[in-house]
Amino acid sequence: MNDCIFCKIAEKEIPSEAVYEDDVIYVFHDLNPQAPVHVLIVTKKHIASLDAVEFDDIDALGWLITKVKDIAASLGLENGYRLVSNCGEDGMQTVPHLHFHLLGKRKMLWPPG
Ligand code: AMP
Ligand code: ZN
Repeated sequence: MNDCIFCKIAEKEIPSEAVYEDDVIYVFHDLNPQAPVHVLIVTKKHIASLDAVEFDDIDALGWLITKVKDIAASLGLENGYRLVSNCGEDGMQTVPHLHFHLLGKRKMLWPPG
């Protein structure tokens, strides 16, 4: 999608602080971190949100999930972390390209606010 900010970030048309990249996913630091470690994991394919996931996305999302522990380890999150995807209006999603927040290096609140 041409006007999608996270597509542009994944395509390097907009700068970001990269953490990890492969053919399927791109990982970069959140501009407005909510924890000492806060990165965003996106699929290179534009998927609007969890609500827009299709059967064809199984491989990409399966791959993304298997990479989470490696990304977390590379960021020193040996004590644990939280993986979050906000979806839609009530989920307070602000960027309509599926992304997972990986947060760590502090105790997370539950339930979230
Ligand atoms: P959400 O509100 O769940 O859709 O998350 C969107 C996230 O994207 C927020 O945490 C923002 O801080 C982050 N964000 C927005 N624009 C950028 C950007 N250009 N680079 C890095 N993070 C961004
Ligand atoms: Zn996109």
